Amino acid sequence: MLQLSTPSLRDSILRHLTYSFGKDPEHAILEDWRMALSYAVRDRIVDAWFKATHQTYETGAKRVYYLSMEFLIGRLLEDGIVNLELVEEAKSALAEFSKDYNDVLADEPDAALGNGGLGRLAACFLESLSTIGCPAHGYGIRYEHGLFRQSFVGGRQVEQPELWLGQRHAWEFERPEVRYRIGFGGHVTNHGETVRWHPAEEVEAEAFDTPVVGWKGRWANTLRLWSGRAIHPFDLAAFNHGDYAAAAAPEALARTISRVLYPDDTTEQGKELRLKQEYFLTGAALRDILRRFNNQFGDLRKLPSKVAIQLNDTHPAIAGPELIRILHDERGIPFDESMDIARNTLSYTNHTLLPEALESWGEALFGRLLPRHIQIIDQIDNEHANRNPSRTQSMRADHQVKMGQLSFVMAHKVNGVSALHTELMKTTVFEELHNLHPDRIVNQTNGVTPRRWLLACNPRLAGLITESIGEVWVDDLEQLEKLEPYIEDAGWLDRYGKVKRDNKVELSNWMGQAHGFHVDPDMIFDVQIKRLHEYKRQHLNILETIAHWLEIRDNPDADWTPRLKLFAGKAAPGYFFAKDIIRLINDAAAVINADPLTNKYLKIAFLPNYNVTLAERLVPAADLSEQISTAGKEASGTGNMKFALNGAPTVGTLDGANVEIRDHVGAENFFLFGMTAEEVMERRMVESHAQKAIAADPRLARALEVIREGRFSPAEPERYHNITGNLEGADYFLVCSDFSDYWRAQREVDAAFKDQQGWARMAAFNTARSGWFSSDRTIRGYMKDIWDAKSLLD
Ligand SMILES: *Cc1c(COP(=O)(O)O)cnc(C)c1O
Repeated sequence: MLQLSTPSLRDSILRHLTYSFGKDPEHAILEDWRMALSYAVRDRIVDAWFKATHQTYETGAKRVYYLSMEFLIGRLLEDGIVNLELVEEAKSALAEFSKDYNDVLADEPDAALGNGGLGRLAACFLESLSTIGCPAHGYGIRYEHGLFRQSFVGGRQVEQPELWLGQRHAWEFERPEVRYRIGFGGHVTNHGETVRWHPAEEVEAEAFDTPVVGWKGRWANTLRLWSGRAIHPFDLAAFNHGDYAAAAAPEALARTISRVLYPDDTTEQGKELRLKQEYFLTGAALRDILRRFNNQFGDLRKLPSKVAIQLNDTHPAIAGPELIRILHDERGIPFDESMDIARNTLSYTNHTLLPEALESWGEALFGRLLPRHIQIIDQIDNEHANRNPSRTQSMRADHQVKMGQLSFVMAHKVNGVSALHTELMKTTVFEELHNLHPDRIVNQTNGVTPRRWLLACNPRLAGLITESIGEVWVDDLEQLEKLEPYIEDAGWLDRYGKVKRDNKVELSNWMGQAHGFHVDPDMIFDVQIKRLHEYKRQHLNILETIAHWLEIRDNPDADWTPRLKLFAGKAAPGYFFAKDIIRLINDAAAVINADPLTNKYLKIAFLPNYNVTLAERLVPAADLSEQISTAGKEASGTGNMKFALNGAPTVGTLDGANVEIRDHVGAENFFLFGMTAEEVMERRMVESHAQKAIAADPRLARALEVIREGRFSPAEPERYHNITGNLEGADYFLVCSDFSDYWRAQREVDAAFKDQQGWARMAAFNTARSGWFSSDRTIRGYMKDIWDAKSLLD
């Protein structure tokens, strides 16, 4: 391999500024500096990337492929700098040119190619795979527009298109030579044993590669994103006839497929374009995987020993039938053998038990778009029924194709994402399939990467930890338990408390500058940031806030613990109830923040446009983490882990990974409230459960009443009758039934926060005992229990 000596970062920045971007330092704009620094860092990542690729080929190691419709990666420059340990060098290099490091970092657009937790998990996994040195590729779609930008007008959410490629993007390498044709529609022919699909329409998938570097640059893997292109991009005949729109039409049509991310993370809308996107990603990824396998190994019967393909939710579930189609129709391997090879190669992660979020497709649409695949699915279903005569549920009932069941049958392992969620899978959606295949479901509790979610986003805390126990924790997070003895040292605990306080001051200053929102950093920073959804119950939080406000007004001279309620999160554009909750929070904030009687004790802020960058700002400054979903509904959560790690105790229900967080940090360092998943199911059976809860709690009744009478919407008193009516009626997510216990937990928080040292202890125990929630631990679990893959660094 070519050996070049590494120039200093300063020289490298200057070279790129000059020769890659054609600017001298006098005329460079901020974006030029950001690009030059990115290229300088990228050069070093590329070195690690080539080394990893060569080692993977030479050792013939098994490769992992992570297929996901979403990768919520956020900004990449700081991630690269931190992982290559170039922070100090980058700061001083930029200082030489009188540029501020943070200004340069902040110039990078936030790549929001995902909706929320599922996409962020995929991004954390890629980073952990590289840190561990497991040969892997992520496969996804290079959406031109990621998740919409959110702003508020009159308190209401307004969506604008996200243009992350509007500025120059430093991290991707276009691969014009890596293209595959992806077909849709058409018909199927039979010639004896040979079946052939003849698509009516074809688009080309073109690869764009982003290197993903791990800790200390020891390894780098690839995120390969597909972009849609026309096969014959320009219709010259039409152009020559003067029909310029028609001339460009094929290109426009093909590009539509990778144009936008579907902005909904909880309801599957069954739209044709979405199914096209799913097959586009999966078809291109499988062709690419098989091309690489063929070059290196050849014998397709060995596929499961060299390739592990993970399906992130059911979105790429078409991988099962597609792999069978290639093995059987194109390579002539018998059907049942093809099915076994495919199943031994594939595994599937379930992310939700919400019925409205379980993917299914109408057979008419599915058969029209993928006529051969629907035949194969029927054959899979028959084969599965034959092998399991006691089976009662088909994946092809009610003129639907059920993607969850298809994924289960075509995977050798199916995993849930927290202990509770995995157990519930066995007794709810997958009960019958679990009984037929009792070894198939396994648990892999989610995690977050400590490089982004502690080292990079919270440098003060990271510094204190490293000073105390050394830097081993960065890729061995359970070492944080070595902090426990320090917690008993009052001087150390003071420093821990000061880190949080400094982070809060920094956030307060930013909120003042960026949003004109001024807040006292001595308040409790009580934070609920996540997608808006009824099951996540932001409305429970605002109801308690309103009740608390009324209570303070009753007795404004009492010794209240000052509190800032911070919210952030986007609602799916068509989810009107969630949008009403946003507006209610904003309306309530306007009234309550302006109340001179209470506003030294209680303030509310809803920060717009929640994304990874905003999360990185808020998490280090949080005192309290709100994880208040209806028990049994949140599969895992990962926001909960970021907060615990950064020293914010949780007020939460026994849901998702909250259960395991509480087990790890200790019940005394967690504010538990609410019904268990089992009690939730029982409570739903109780007639008029909401009315009963309201009758039993005058605070709840009064909070609902002031909303209903228009206290926060005087110009339109009935504005929130949809919300109050829902809560007083069906209240499916049991906001009313959990209210009183939530109130109690919040008053315990008030009392606990008065003892600043006691609070710091609790926070520090959260940090010291959250090491298990590293995505490194999660990935090692997948490697061992699901992929049978090895690290090339161990
Ligand atoms: C971590 C994260 C999420 C997931 O948050 P939950 O509270 O687990 O739903 C969603 N969006 C962003 C931007 C995140 O960083």
